[in-house]
Amino acid sequence: MSGSAILVVEDDASTSTSVARSLTAHGYRVVEAADAEAGRRAWERQRPDLVILDLGLPDADGLVVLRSMRRDAATPILVLTARGGERVKVAALDQGADDYVTKPFGMAELHARIRALLRRAAGPSADEAGVVSLGILRVDITRHTVEVDGSTVRLTPREFEVLKVLVTHPGRLATHGRLLRAVWGSAYTEEGHYLHVYVRQIRRKIAAADHSGALRKLIVSEPGVGYRITEADGST
Ligand code: CA
Repeated sequence: MSGSAILVVEDDASTSTSVARSLTAHGYRVVEAADAEAGRRAWERQRPDLVILDLGLPDADGLVVLRSMRRDAATPILVLTARGGERVKVAALDQGADDYVTKPFGMAELHARIRALLRRAAGPSADEAGVVSLGILRVDITRHTVEVDGSTVRLTPREFEVLKVLVTHPGRLATHGRLLRAVWGSAYTEEGHYLHVYVRQIRRKIAAADHSGALRKLIVSEPGVGYRITEADGST
């Protein structure tokens, strides 16, 4: 959303400058901070609408900064991580980050992530009747029903719970751990293979009702990290 204030905490000046320039050109108000300390001060002073947080900062672990911001507010936090750091990505997401982009990233990808997070932060994803609509997909959270293009898709209770966690966080990434805890409880957080089976079933059942193919990319896997829902137009 144009006009939103975005705090960019990043010590690499060229990344910070190009991100700030691109965001400003799209109408965002940008505050830059080159280390954790400056980031914390700007966070206190500005109360931004969204934070872009590099995890590799010179003066503190980015995860510590993340946790302290998350204790304060539910502001969307997008972390920047190095390629291949699956463990760090999962740790960041489990500690309250909403999403990540891996360096080097394209500005189009960054903008798509930011739009999705700001949209999500702007309002509840289910309407008052508890219905989430994503294009031709309609998930009734209260009545536990799923429709694709008006036809009912029959999911088992567990499959429904997995889909529910995903669609109530559209555009955000749900880690394997978060999904497993939400659906099976904390004893199962290492049982990632359960999820693969359930997600495969959900995809298969939705695809069978999705004659136009509009939901082909609905559930996207982020290998080693988790799953995200993309909206019907294909953007995230
Ligand atoms: Ca860095």
